Amino acid sequence: MRLLAGTVFDRPPRCERCNELESDCRCTPAEPSRQPPEAQSAQLAVEKRKGGRQVTVVRGLSHNDTDLADLLTRLRNLCGAGGTVRDGALEIQGSHLERIRGELLSIGYRVKAIRG
Ligand SMILES: [Zn+2]
Repeated sequence: MRLLAGTVFDRPPRCERCNELESDCRCTPAEPSRQPPEAQSAQLAVEKRKGGRQVTVVRGLSHNDTDLADLLTRLRNLCGAGGTVRDGALEIQGSHLERIRGELLSIGYRVKAIRG
């Protein structure tokens, strides 16, 4: 409860998840709160795609708990490579297993690496 009721009207409450005004928020109400990275386990693998090109795939991170687009940007910048979110998994072009593993660990995720 706020003592200064006026501030509530000056700064309408915003959703903590999407940052929209609560009146505009479309988050589903029963969404469980996000798990911290320490409680999440990522599976890393280097896989081959069409034409023999390699991609490094990060699975096991739920979009409910992780801002996958944000993490993708971070990993793309780290590797200097393109990437995408596909079926809830992050795909970074090229073989970057150790680099991505180190980055995820430094964020706090638990990581299981599978060599392709
Ligand atoms: Zn929201």
